[in-house]
Amino acid sequence: MANIVVMGAGIGGLPAAYDLRAKLGEEHRITVVSAIDHFQFTPSNPWVAVGWRQPEQIVVPLAPRLEKKGIRFIPQAVTRLDPAVGKLSLADGQELSYDYLIIATGPKLAFDEIPGLGPEGHTQSVCTTPHASRAWVAYQEFLKNPGPIVIGAAQGASCFGPAYEFALIVDSDLRKRKIRDQVPMTFVTSEPYIGHMGLGGVGDSKGLLESALRQRHIKWITNAKLLEAKADAVRVAEHDDKGQAVKELELPSRFTMFIPAFKGVDAVAAVKEMCNPRGFVQIDEYQRNPKYPNIYSAGVCVAIPPVEATPIPTGAPKTGYMIESMVTAIVENIKEELAGKPVTHKATWNAICLADMGDDGVAFVALPQIPPRNLTWAKQGKWVHLAKIAFEKYFISKMKSGNTEPVFEKYVLKALGIVRLKEKVSE
Ligand SMILES: Cc1cc2nc3c(=O)[nH]c(=O)nc-3n(C[C@H](O)[C@H](O)[C@H](O)COP(=O)(O)OP(=O)(O)OC[C@H]3O[C@@H](n4cnc5c(N)ncnc54)[C@H](O)[C@@H]3O)c2cc1C
Repeated sequence: MANIVVMGAGIGGLPAAYDLRAKLGEEHRITVVSAIDHFQFTPSNPWVAVGWRQPEQIVVPLAPRLEKKGIRFIPQAVTRLDPAVGKLSLADGQELSYDYLIIATGPKLAFDEIPGLGPEGHTQSVCTTPHASRAWVAYQEFLKNPGPIVIGAAQGASCFGPAYEFALIVDSDLRKRKIRDQVPMTFVTSEPYIGHMGLGGVGDSKGLLESALRQRHIKWITNAKLLEAKADAVRVAEHDDKGQAVKELELPSRFTMFIPAFKGVDAVAAVKEMCNPRGFVQIDEYQRNPKYPNIYSAGVCVAIPPVEATPIPTGAPKTGYMIESMVTAIVENIKEELAGKPVTHKATWNAICLADMGDDGVAFVALPQIPPRNLTWAKQGKWVHLAKIAFEKYFISKMKSGNTEPVFEKYVLKALGIVRLKEKVSE
């Protein structure tokens, strides 16, 4: 019998637990330990922040569902990890041992790296559902007295898609409310150009996103470092392509949202020999930690190098499709290990993203994620907005039922294949 513990119950951890339960025999014990007692569908957070979703629509309480599936659930944060003896310490003082550990703890949000950044300072966040709920409260206050808005992604950020999404969703929302004319908007990003996305661009993402921002009267500043967020302004330094500061600006803002840089969560980052300097878990091609091969890792908490050097540091995003393929590889590898075979499964490092723009959207496909690529494609249309809503509904229902189908591999790729085929036919 193996004792397998999954740390984290987000987009990586929860499917991993369901999939392990479905694929391994009853004799193996599976435990999920997570800092919160529910699953939250992070991609819908930007909609929560403008009141288009209620938090309860995008969260799934876990205890009843996991117990029904025969998965033990402990809603406690891990405070210490001792990989030499295979033991976790939890916030309530419990200790938990494991034979195999899957670390899927997502990011620690590095608000502390910039003065005034984050919900405890002067900027809103959409990175967690509680943050998005707070942003919705602030947004309602803003609507009573509209003025300039600054939205962006800080230096060292890797998750640019939600920053673009949020800017374009806010623009749509303000237009619907017929007050967009009272709101000058600026998008501030550490990317070297609009549409870089931490991926060196995907297809014509530069053209598509520049055009979307231009059409919606959103000004932008690239190669930017956020110096400080204040209650009514942000201080930004603009840089040239050599990374030299060329201009310092103070942008007035009555509502500010920035995606911060990410780090590894404390309990994981504290195990230095397992992590890179930012506290992300080092993995080999089979998703195992090289120092502790009984520890696997998936999702935002894994260490992957930036796609390319940029004048202001940016990281590579870890998106749903990639995370799903990491989870599939881990489950298959643990199954092989338990059968006494060598591990053989590798994740596919591809990026597929549906970026919502409020009433429209852009789909990006980068296969593989790091250029040069076999396939790179970006397409804009209202169908992307509708596809994202359909995907949200499907993914949340899957997390409620414990369905283990690999949704990106099975449906999203096929759907995008059909869209491409239609394009080719009409060419
Ligand atoms: C706002 C936003 C929008 C996004 N939109 C998209 C999108 O549209 N499409 C896409 O493909 N990707 C998107 N992403 C990227 C990515 O898919 C998400 O970040 C995703 O949630 C990452 O999954 P994860 O499992 O790695 O981390 P998370 O989903 O963040 O889960 C981490 C889990 O670990 C738990 N945890 C943390 N610390 C501890 C601890 N010490 N002990 C125990 N448990 C712990 C947490 O409670 C949580 O359950 C988005 C990211 C953000 C921030």
